[in-house]
Amino acid sequence: MIQRSNQPDHQAKIGDMPAEELRAHGHRAIDWVVDYLQNVDRYPVLPDIQPGDVRRKLPPAPPEEGEAMDRILADVDLVIMPGITHWSHPRFFAYFNSSTSGPGILAELLASALNVNGMVWESCPSVSELEQLTLDWLRQMLGLPPDCWGIIYDTASTSTLHAIAAAREALSDLNIREQGMTGRHDLPRLRAYMSDLAHSSVDKAVITLGFGMAGIRKIPVDAEFRMQPRALADAIAEDRKNGIRPFCVVATAGTTSCTSIDPVSAIADICEHEGLWLHVDAAHGGAAAIVPEMRGLFDGWDRADSIVVNPHKWMFVPVDLSVLYTRKPEVLRHAFSLVPEYLRTEHDEQVQNLMDYGVPLGRRFRALKLWFVLRYFGSKGMADRIREHLRVAGTVAGWVDAHPDFERLAPVPLSTVCFRAHPRGMDDETKLNSLNDELVSSINRSGSMFLSHTKLGDRYTIRFVVSHLRVRESDVQQAWKILQDQLQALLTKRGFK
Ligand SMILES: *Cc1c(COP(=O)(O)O)cnc(C)c1O
Repeated sequence: MIQRSNQPDHQAKIGDMPAEELRAHGHRAIDWVVDYLQNVDRYPVLPDIQPGDVRRKLPPAPPEEGEAMDRILADVDLVIMPGITHWSHPRFFAYFNSSTSGPGILAELLASALNVNGMVWESCPSVSELEQLTLDWLRQMLGLPPDCWGIIYDTASTSTLHAIAAAREALSDLNIREQGMTGRHDLPRLRAYMSDLAHSSVDKAVITLGFGMAGIRKIPVDAEFRMQPRALADAIAEDRKNGIRPFCVVATAGTTSCTSIDPVSAIADICEHEGLWLHVDAAHGGAAAIVPEMRGLFDGWDRADSIVVNPHKWMFVPVDLSVLYTRKPEVLRHAFSLVPEYLRTEHDEQVQNLMDYGVPLGRRFRALKLWFVLRYFGSKGMADRIREHLRVAGTVAGWVDAHPDFERLAPVPLSTVCFRAHPRGMDDETKLNSLNDELVSSINRSGSMFLSHTKLGDRYTIRFVVSHLRVRESDVQQAWKILQDQLQALLTKRGFK
């Protein structure tokens, strides 16, 4: 028989990769990981490629014979790396970062080796118990009350979907779990409220759950981009008068555009008075509550029915890991529990089976990476790192404020600075928008750093997010220099001064 040249002679005919091969490649892989993270700032943050470039370099059909690991790993460098956006680059200032960490990486490796499925307690007791324990640790670190019960989902979008499903279940007189929402004439229009700056995942959850876009009412924000409680109360009253039934309010603690924090306490008062479910979206911002002196910003969130925080955003846990806390786990359970015979166990009376609290049955061992990260850094280490980000962001805001050609566009309650270039003598809003758009694109194309943008009002707004585990003050200084130099270059090109 002819051996194909790429086929390692030690590859088994059946079964897994031989143990010694795994060991050898495993050591190489961990070296690769450490070298990558040490040298990540040598890559352009954004890859310089066009749509289809990655795929074109790979065969359209799968290999018939197995290939040598050497060749697979070589293609990671040759084909995959040129298409990587380097989220671990210290000058990744776009979106909300998710920075990975040593303890998080090691836990992911172990979790994939264990490959357990925690659908019920019995299917892997450590998944259920570690998840409940680490979420209680995190609860304490965030300063939330003991009646906040937590569960892990993949993303905040999924957490919020479950929160709003629970809010719907809480309308027990409507019996939606049994009767559904279609083909009945006894259902009023149901409505959820959120600010203009709420994350799109909230709209998506409301749509997915069958309330439709008409089930969403956006509440205007004040000059600092926070929901106006007065306007919320008025909207609820107006809707009630028109036969619409309010059921849920989503307050955002750290909006995606500019990290503004809705007045949760005042909103909680309204929700209590009106009997509405209050969900707090703190996907990114919640991490700041780990810093004791920041906790005041979140006043009132302990009164929410549910809260989402994403350890994969600003808590150094690799994607994906989102946490939903709720003070009413029994409502969530009532919405989702459905136990087929083959999933019944003798422990059902004594344990919480996590499959009962949501759509997914299978549950990977995400808690392991959260446990590793919380133990390795400790609550003090986490707070110190986040506090440093807050400090550095304050420095950046100071530079923007002091510069005659830049202008800050929002307060900086957390570590995201929203600003734009506003050169002296250029006051046409359309021109300013196009200038800033070009500024961001040209910087991103250069690969030297990565920024993203939003619109605040009608203004194109640059978002500069300092939340990266590897960010150093020198990276921020360099970023500020790039911004000024690039602005100067654009103005010269446009013949402006
Ligand atoms: C990022 C973000 C989300 C969505 O997070 P995913 O985990 O990607 O679904 C939701 N809400 C806010 C406020 C966010 O910043």
